Amino acid sequence: MGQLYLNKVTKSFGDLDVIKGVTLDIQDGEFVVFVGPSGCGKSTLLRIIAGLDDATQGDIVIDGLKVNDLAPVNRGIAMVFQSYALYPHMSVFENIAFPLRVEKMPEAQIKEKVESVAQVLQLDQRLQQKPGMLSGGQRQRVAIGRAIVREPKIFLFDEPLSNLDAALRADMRIELTKLHHDLAATMIYVTHDQVEAMTMADRIVVLNGGYIAQTGKPLELYHKPQNMFVAGFIGNPK
Ligand code: ADP
Ligand code: MG
Repeated sequence: MGQLYLNKVTKSFGDLDVIKGVTLDIQDGEFVVFVGPSGCGKSTLLRIIAGLDDATQGDIVIDGLKVNDLAPVNRGIAMVFQSYALYPHMSVFENIAFPLRVEKMPEAQIKEKVESVAQVLQLDQRLQQKPGMLSGGQRQRVAIGRAIVREPKIFLFDEPLSNLDAALRADMRIELTKLHHDLAATMIYVTHDQVEAMTMADRIVVLNGGYIAQTGKPLELYHKPQNMFVAGFIGNPK
């Protein structure tokens, strides 16, 4: 299960109101894309969902359980960032295994899990290499591997492909879509890229200045933007 409910979530940093009341229901297995201009609160909202930041007000509910006070590691959530932050001195195997070592999982079980993840991500021939030997796309896959290995119910991606070139981005779009299908996990994906939003999303959430401007299936937003902001950002300007 990986159902997420945000109920009237707000976030202020001192006097700055960044998230101004977001209510959103995300179904188990849904692929939801957050889009919106720089500074509108996308990363902050992901951090609140992950538990890396506290909401000022409102509830974060996962599978019916309010998780506001639950530590990030106990939320069943994994987050993948734009900068993949791999450990350069460790092999691909050890990078993926890292979260399991922290949990003190037995060695045999670690080996089994890392190998199965590597297979899904087509990294099985690369396990003994260091990140420095890999292409940008392969490195990003290692970062995703490290997120998957704990078998989270919900994945949060914060502009994970924005450091890659256009051709690699296109390949990774296809791989992530396949991964979503294979894992049947809930995914929330932040991007600037309209093509990513239109092709990957089951549903798009357009954020503007800390509010949800509109939410809907890609083609609904494209053909029926509710206001000029959504039209300008993603819609079909008439
Ligand atoms: P986005 O990811 O949509 O570009 P962010 O969520 O990173 O936007 O930031 C939203 C707003 O919150 C910005 O104005 C940013 O400067 C501010 N902000 C984010 N984190 C902090 C923080 N820790 N302290 C103060 N202001 C912050
Ligand atoms: Mg951001």
